[in-house]
Amino acid sequence: MTVILGGGISGLSAAYYALDAKLSSIILLEASSRVGGWIRSRSSPSGAIFEQGPRTVRTLGEGGKNTLNLIDDLQLNDKLVYIGISHPVASNRLIYMDEALHRLPNSLKGIFKTSSLLDRPLINRIWTDLRAPKVSMEDESIYSFVQRRLGQDIADNIISPMICGICAGDAREISVNFLLKSLFEAEQKHGSIMKGLLMKRIFAKSKDKADAAKDNADHESAVGSLTLVEKAQKERWILWGLRGGLEQLPRALADNVKERGARIQTEKRCEKLTFKSDRVELSVNGEPQECSRVISSLGAKDLAELLREQHPGLSAELKAIPTVTVGVVNLEFQGNVLLLQAFGFLVPPKENLPLLGVIFDSCIFPESSTVLTVMMGGAWFEKYFGPNPSEEQLLTTAINHTRNILQIEEEPVAHNVAVLKDCIPQHVVGHTARVKRIHDYISAHHIPLALCGSSYQGVGLNDVILSAKQAVRDVVK
Ligand SMILES: Cc1cc2nc3c(=O)[nH]c(=O)nc-3n(C[C@H](O)[C@H](O)[C@H](O)COP(=O)(O)OP(=O)(O)OC[C@H]3O[C@@H](n4cnc5c(N)ncnc54)[C@H](O)[C@@H]3O)c2cc1C
Repeated sequence: MTVILGGGISGLSAAYYALDAKLSSIILLEASSRVGGWIRSRSSPSGAIFEQGPRTVRTLGEGGKNTLNLIDDLQLNDKLVYIGISHPVASNRLIYMDEALHRLPNSLKGIFKTSSLLDRPLINRIWTDLRAPKVSMEDESIYSFVQRRLGQDIADNIISPMICGICAGDAREISVNFLLKSLFEAEQKHGSIMKGLLMKRIFAKSKDKADAAKDNADHESAVGSLTLVEKAQKERWILWGLRGGLEQLPRALADNVKERGARIQTEKRCEKLTFKSDRVELSVNGEPQECSRVISSLGAKDLAELLREQHPGLSAELKAIPTVTVGVVNLEFQGNVLLLQAFGFLVPPKENLPLLGVIFDSCIFPESSTVLTVMMGGAWFEKYFGPNPSEEQLLTTAINHTRNILQIEEEPVAHNVAVLKDCIPQHVVGHTARVKRIHDYISAHHIPLALCGSSYQGVGLNDVILSAKQAVRDVVK
């Protein structure tokens, strides 16, 4: 019997791939009363969707394709809302700095021009990077890497707010060897980002030709209907979401795995794991249970607690992966109150504001009203809100800053406030080495435990779904 811990998107995906891999007797244990984890879609009184967690999914890369294939298989295609490369949401990404909104450069022309965000045009940074000496090291923060190779203005005004948008984190702490691995390796192998990227491009060109020939062959065999991945490539989608809310994805996954024989048990909290030579003993809501292997999709901190007694060393490594808390406030205004269509804006930490950024939901998923989501706190949650802020405090802060920055005169007609405690793991300097030590420990001690979820390989939905597929592969191996 395989027990999967956690009924968020990664635990449900693990059940889905485990069934594909023909693993039998699958039980998923979820501590709360619902599946979906951080994915939670609520409705305002007017019927507008308030996403409390994620809302959009990127199409790029192996992870992007994998998730689109999942959507295809779950028959959620008719709910899909996608954003193509020429949509205003794709080209208008804003930064709030010095009391004004600035557009991020979004075209080839833009990199030759001076921007209000930067001291010099982006194109000049090619020379900055080519002249900067190589510094050999295992890892460093994204901030110091970008400052060293491209300039402090890019580190402060572009990269730092982008890190707030990706993981609500501080660029001065996040690992470059994890989040911008290819740029870091370019410097380490070739002495500069530009030289490294050029070498990669030359190498990729010959690989692209081989891949294109293979794609054509595959394509010819699937005459007529395009898969979702092919459609996304052809129409150049950059991201997508689901009309009616992203929570439909975990719900559809749960229905799919239940129909195929997996058992999902909610309100079942695993409190302890003990690995014996021939079985795993679990304590679930104080009751003993047994299985032959465990796939954990829990956050590393939660898993650390379950292993504390039997494997204190492993538990300490897991516990050392930090998390941040995000305050999320959804606001609805009557009619259209926005002066421009955009994805939203991000705030550089040096502005010393409690806001990480604001997403313009109704530009991505058109509604008759204006829906905005204000993300606050993250790595600076305690600094701005203390340990226990009231909902009123979060709501007032969100409304005041948002109305001021976006020059909205109206009061919101509906809102939703949530404090998402420890919701985003931080992949800080040294993360890659720590995750390797965790995996090495598990395999050296022959522990029948596979790991997936946002603590290890990335926080995006594509990353965590792929991590579940990989965990099942590890188990089958
Ligand atoms: C505010 C916010 C916005 C985001 N926006 C985006 C976005 O737009 N696009 C994107 O790609 N990603 C986004 N993300 C990231 C993405 O949502 C998460 O990485 C993903 O949902 C994590 O899923 P998970 O299944 O790994 O973990 P979780 O969702 O944390 O699921 C873990 C589950 O385990 C359960 N559990 C915990 N302890 C136990 C126990 N002891 N026993 C049993 N069950 C237990 C929990 O109740 C939970 O249901 C966002 C995240 C947040 C917080």
